[in-house]
Amino acid sequence: SPVTSVPLNDGRSIPQLGYGVFKVDPDVTADVTGQALRAGYRHIDTAKVYGNESGVGRALRESGLDREDVFVTTKLWDDAHAHDDAIAACETSLQELGLEQIDLYLIHWAAPSQGKYLEAWKALIELRERGLVRSIGVSNFPLPQLEEIIEATGVVPAVHQIELHPYFPQHELREAHARHGIVTESWGPLGQGKSDLLENEVITSVAQAHGASPAQVVLAWHLAHGIVALPKSVTPERIVENLAAAELELSADEIAAIDGLDRGPAGRGGTDPSSK
Ligand code: NAD
Repeated sequence: SPVTSVPLNDGRSIPQLGYGVFKVDPDVTADVTGQALRAGYRHIDTAKVYGNESGVGRALRESGLDREDVFVTTKLWDDAHAHDDAIAACETSLQELGLEQIDLYLIHWAAPSQGKYLEAWKALIELRERGLVRSIGVSNFPLPQLEEIIEATGVVPAVHQIELHPYFPQHELREAHARHGIVTESWGPLGQGKSDLLENEVITSVAQAHGASPAQVVLAWHLAHGIVALPKSVTPERIVENLAAAELELSADEIAAIDGLDRGPAGRGGTDPSSK
């Protein structure tokens, strides 16, 4: 595979480009995930709330690939932050996926108003100790809640999965991740089709210069910054195209030009994690 892996703070490593299956119909998930695995993806990102973990599991079994060769992430939903609920939710996800261990288990949202994210984090620490999951991390944590769970437990998440793309590059969290040794993962790496990102002049001119597609340029920008990107597509050609971004190398000037697309808080396309 052309995709390199990056080290995690727990001694494991993670392929830098993964295939995301948010909003992928459960009925087609096994088929498109199978296409992604045949194309060469070795990292799949799903979640309990996507309702398609069993399709991912089927694709893994049908692929004939060794279990150790594919990195599988799933996530704990907001309704199961209480200790016993979190343990049970992880066991259910393992069953749906048909796996004995999850490579990376994430708290999907901090949901600060529920006030149970620290209890959930302690449950994930226990799940790792019990061997049900190999690495643990979080998603959609505002900085204060991220700092709080580290301070309270001494356990630093291996990754933090957040909305991140050139219009919303998340400088503050990325700096905190660098301080703590947390790998940043981008969800909505292509902007989720919610903006004109893939038609932006800076992106399209870099794409033209390389004979690449705008999506490939955006993904190459994530990779150049050491970020793990999780693009989603159910279109066969785009599944292949997005993976090939791993072979696209941008110049320092091109990276800087794309860095310049930052739109500040207005660049956010999805839910603000502190509002939940
Ligand atoms: P994305 O930025 O990957 O955008 C996906 C959309 O971009 C596709 O539906 C398609 O319309 C378009 N697209 C894909 N490839 C393209 C190409 N080559 N050319 C042109 N258009 C293309 O957004 P996403 O799916 O929301 O995010 C990716 C993954 O991140 C998800 O599948 C999921 O795994 C994860 N995610 C996590 C959270 C979270 O809360 N942790 C939230 C959203 C997504």
